[in-house]
Amino acid sequence: MDNRRTLAGKIALVTGAGRGIGRAIAERLADDGALVGVHYGHSATAAQEVVAEIRKNGGRAFAVEAELGVPGDTDAVFAAFDAGLRAERGEGGEEGGAGARVGGSLDILVNNAGVSGSGPVSQAVPEVFDRMMAVNAKAPLFLVQAALPRMRDGGRIVNISSLASRRAFPESIAYAMSKGALDTMTLCLAKELGGRGITVNTVGPGFIETNMNARRRTTPEARAALAGRSVFDRIGRPSDVADVVAFLASDDSRWITGQYLDASGGTDL
Ligand code: NAP
Repeated sequence: MDNRRTLAGKIALVTGAGRGIGRAIAERLADDGALVGVHYGHSATAAQEVVAEIRKNGGRAFAVEAELGVPGDTDAVFAAFDAGLRAERGEGGEEGGAGARVGGSLDILVNNAGVSGSGPVSQAVPEVFDRMMAVNAKAPLFLVQAALPRMRDGGRIVNISSLASRRAFPESIAYAMSKGALDTMTLCLAKELGGRGITVNTVGPGFIETNMNARRRTTPEARAALAGRSVFDRIGRPSDVADVVAFLASDDSRWITGQYLDASGGTDL
């Protein structure tokens, strides 16, 4: 448990926080003192475990269910987020709807949820391309749009991209393109939101040990090859990314915006 409590009094929403990198981010932000909305799409049990773990460690969190990349996803996220926040604040009741008392109800938005596995150009199909763009790029944009009226000045937006937008990654072209769109969103928003003291940054992981790339680690040889892509000769851990996000979520990063922070352990330098 980190006792620095740099985020005491802050409210965060982390998408895709039931497992993988998102889980590590949610737990780290809660350790730092934030009240965390643990968003999930399908991993309900896992998300409840994350909330329970955070509470067990003295932190505060609540689950936020909503599938992303489908019509109405943004409204569903914030309806669940607002309800969870009201419950957490002991306000009770559902009256007033999702839009009630939204101002000042968010400080940190981490767009982490994502899907991968689109294949090379020869295997590209419009439906998969649309899915990549819907979950990895469109949903973050409209989550930010809905988050901004809620967000206090001095807020933080962190987008989890990928090394795939900075190095050629032809084996998953639609995925890489969707992360490129996310990087461009960071740049545009950083300029627009600077006047409010809101910083917007991208974190770009390399290979991190989660379900997303499990198919690349099925043999010891494959694991070793993946580890060897990093100058540190190991596969990244979710906490390697979460610690970078915690810095970007904190006041220490106030003079950094519009940036892509490589968190790949020096992959393919
Ligand atoms: P993961 O273990 O596969 O987890 C993906 C997360 O995204 C899950 O929490 C999942 O939630 C959520 N998600 C996916 N589709 C969703 C949808 N339609 N609606 C709602 N939630 C959805 O992957 P990860 O490695 O933690 O990835 C997290 C982020 O890091 C992604 O943006 C990914 O592109 C990026 N990244 C990962 C790596 C890596 O090597 N692992 C490398 C570079 C970038 P549910 O299970 O609840 O649906």
